[in-house]
Amino acid sequence: MTHNEELFTRARKTIPGGVNSPVRAFRSVGGAPRFFTRGAGARVWDADDKCYVDYVGSWGPLILGHADADTVRAVQEAAAKGLSFGAPTIGEIELAELLVQRVPSMDMVRLVSSGTEATMSAIRLARGFTGRDAIIKFEGCYHGHGDSLLVKAGSGLLTFGNPSSAGVPADLAQHTLVLDYNDAQGLRDAFAQHGKTIACVIVEPVAGNMNLIAPKPEFLAAMRELCTRHGSVLIFDEVMTGFRVGPGSAQGLYGITPDLSTFGKVVGGGMPLGAFGGRRDIMEQIAPLGPVYQAGTLSGNPLSVAAGLVTLKKIAAPGFYEALTARTKSLVDGLAAAAKRHGVKFSAQSVGGMFGVYFAATPPTSYAEVMACDKEAFNRFFHSMLDAGFYLAPSAFEAGFVSAAHTDADIAATVAAADAIFAAG
Ligand SMILES: *Cc1c(COP(=O)(O)O)cnc(C)c1O
Repeated sequence: MTHNEELFTRARKTIPGGVNSPVRAFRSVGGAPRFFTRGAGARVWDADDKCYVDYVGSWGPLILGHADADTVRAVQEAAAKGLSFGAPTIGEIELAELLVQRVPSMDMVRLVSSGTEATMSAIRLARGFTGRDAIIKFEGCYHGHGDSLLVKAGSGLLTFGNPSSAGVPADLAQHTLVLDYNDAQGLRDAFAQHGKTIACVIVEPVAGNMNLIAPKPEFLAAMRELCTRHGSVLIFDEVMTGFRVGPGSAQGLYGITPDLSTFGKVVGGGMPLGAFGGRRDIMEQIAPLGPVYQAGTLSGNPLSVAAGLVTLKKIAAPGFYEALTARTKSLVDGLAAAAKRHGVKFSAQSVGGMFGVYFAATPPTSYAEVMACDKEAFNRFFHSMLDAGFYLAPSAFEAGFVSAAHTDADIAATVAAADAIFAAG
């Protein structure tokens, strides 16, 4: 047994499935998950001391790579001054000011400790602000594990949803309408029928939790127009896309202004931190100013804030996103060209520093098309790449991430490894 396998056996005795978040368990691809002992830049090492070029980056946060020296130093300095106060600190104001400056739609922001907390809070706020209960989400979009969001489509067209997890009350799921991503007409029909009751629409402006699906511009535009017309709150869940796809996040990239947005991942620089914010009139409905309750013992934690501040400052360097975007694109273009050379049905695309690879002739544009990709082909490719020292997301339905620490040589080595795997069939 490898050390990874021994650790997995041991972990499963005390931790359900051996992991603290399900996708880590490698259920989708099979085999034992790798237990990581350290990371540096673009690389991670596992319990057998095997080194990998990492394209997961803790599922997005590590835009500067692992153990970025400035981030680590800032966290150490903050830790030496106290781990938590449960009282306001200067760093929280600085981070709030930076976010308000960088995010076009954000007048005010509140810090929380995870993306899930950010989306749960934003939805409560939208409901409190509008006095309505119904929400719209899209199939395949993930917004954390809040009860209202673990919902799948109902049995009929435009019927409200059913729980997608045990433990979610059906009564609660009935307030969530689940529609198809990129289907502007479906959204129009839903608003025509239920418009007066819709508190909010929540969307991943680039979907990154069903592999990567790029938004059709008319889909996001229709959403903005319908929410405005019907007095519903438009929530962009930018937990993944925030500061990942560009300096203004997805809302900057596509030129759409949501009413609220949620952040996580990159904003915490690898520490637990989330944020939600937007229009002042809406944000002023939160306690202690307004009637919508929301709170957190560790919210705005000084170590998380320190990591977030350094990260946001470093990614503002001139040319940062041009370089990240170009490097990510060279990865997906290289992979697609290699597949083509060997006649493998494969495609790939990127948006900023996130990417998708698909065992399908063209990149999918809907949840149904993603589900139709060849999962077995992905799983074989995943394990071959893993053996060769390249760590991709352990599921055909997750996006990948490139960091500023990935070099052109890393990309070239990755493409060469994939070429050899495609050649071998
Ligand atoms: C990761 C993610 C979340 C949940 O964030 P956690 O920090 O894991 O709770 C929510 N929304 C999107 C779009 C995400 O990618």
